[in-house]
Amino acid sequence: MIQEVYPMTIGEELVPSERQLLAGVEAGDSMHPEQVRYLILHCSATRCDRPYTAKQLIRDHKSRGFRTAGYHFYVRRDGTMTQHRRLLEVGAHCRPFNRCSIGICYEGGLDPSGHPADTRTPQQTERLSRLFQNLRRLFPQAQIRGHRDMPGAVPKDCPCLDAQREFG
Ligand SMILES: [Zn+2]
Repeated sequence: MIQEVYPMTIGEELVPSERQLLAGVEAGDSMHPEQVRYLILHCSATRCDRPYTAKQLIRDHKSRGFRTAGYHFYVRRDGTMTQHRRLLEVGAHCRPFNRCSIGICYEGGLDPSGHPADTRTPQQTERLSRLFQNLRRLFPQAQIRGHRDMPGAVPKDCPCLDAQREFG
């Protein structure tokens, strides 16, 4: 089910109108909607047979010095999605593109033996598709990319799938 019109709910954020989205732009660590050039997909780089909760993600990112999870959205294997940054808040997931992108991460990306793999569940695929479609409505100029597609990306496998082909 895709919402075609405003108000649009993306993650936990209700976007009543385009004007409202613009009004949410604050000075400081916010992007302007027109600055959002990429929707960047990541994987958590955790084994698909081991749960990695949003709580663990937040803890791990905090231990790296971030205020909270660096991604805007996190999608677990059961399709549950949590939002960790406001839409236009600058994230911490793909330097030097944090000021022109929104970061989305799915749980997994490693097979049970720890090798990079597309471990998406159907629930994750569906949730990600809907999210990308909604984000593309808000940011029509933004392009869908995998972390590994960005110049200078490390690690080079993330998100272990062709994001443009799958969701573009
Ligand atoms: Zn990544």
